[in-house]
Amino acid sequence: MASDTDKEGLEMTRRGLMLVLSSPSGAGKTSISRELLERDDKISLSISATTRPRRPGEVDGEDYKFVDKTTFDLMINRQELLEHAKVFDHYYGTPRAPVEQSLAGGRDVLFDIDWQGTQQLAEKARGDLVSIFILPPSTVELDRRLHSRAQDSEAVISERMARAADEMTHWSEYDYVIVNVDFDKSVRKVQSILEAERLKRPRLVGLSDFVTRLRQGQ
Ligand code: 5GP
Repeated sequence: MASDTDKEGLEMTRRGLMLVLSSPSGAGKTSISRELLERDDKISLSISATTRPRRPGEVDGEDYKFVDKTTFDLMINRQELLEHAKVFDHYYGTPRAPVEQSLAGGRDVLFDIDWQGTQQLAEKARGDLVSIFILPPSTVELDRRLHSRAQDSEAVISERMARAADEMTHWSEYDYVIVNVDFDKSVRKVQSILEAERLKRPRLVGLSDFVTRLRQGQ
């Protein structure tokens, strides 16, 4: 298990956490995730497996692990996925092994997954989970952001707009909700949540030994 060294040079062994960011598509979740990963070297992204076709610019193994349905079903049968769900018309799932290794090693993992996957993680590992729901500031802004991507067809965009309203109903299942008005402020809010959650007592598995040493005058 890794140790965190704070500014005073104190080392404290802790368990990693699972930070989930969910939102209707177009609310800014992917950009926030990328920026957080840039700013914080103690968290890494969980690369999901998906049956969805690769979009232009996406890299296999970096954005997603792109697999066919047979391979995806095999991963489910072998219990290699921590959670999985059908989102829109495709299947998505989180490979289990890298997440378990990171948490045990004291490293945090970031998940860009939907509410179905978040519910499954909550059932399996509530204590390790910190979930944040990102909302767009308005429907007009959501529409603008979906169009500015220019990758998806008009039909796909309309479908996503229609489903966004449904997806938003899940906001109350999350630990935190951020309305993404200002990108930089939203990233800083996520960083604040992460910083505080890292300090939660049950995650500081090195505390007991630390206090024992303190009491012994060491
Ligand atoms: P996109 O196809 O636009 O990359 O993602 C569509 C939706 O699938 C997003 O809401 C994203 O968060 C969700 N998603 C991506 N990977 C996973 C995953 O591994 N599990 C679940 N449950 N949802 C995922």
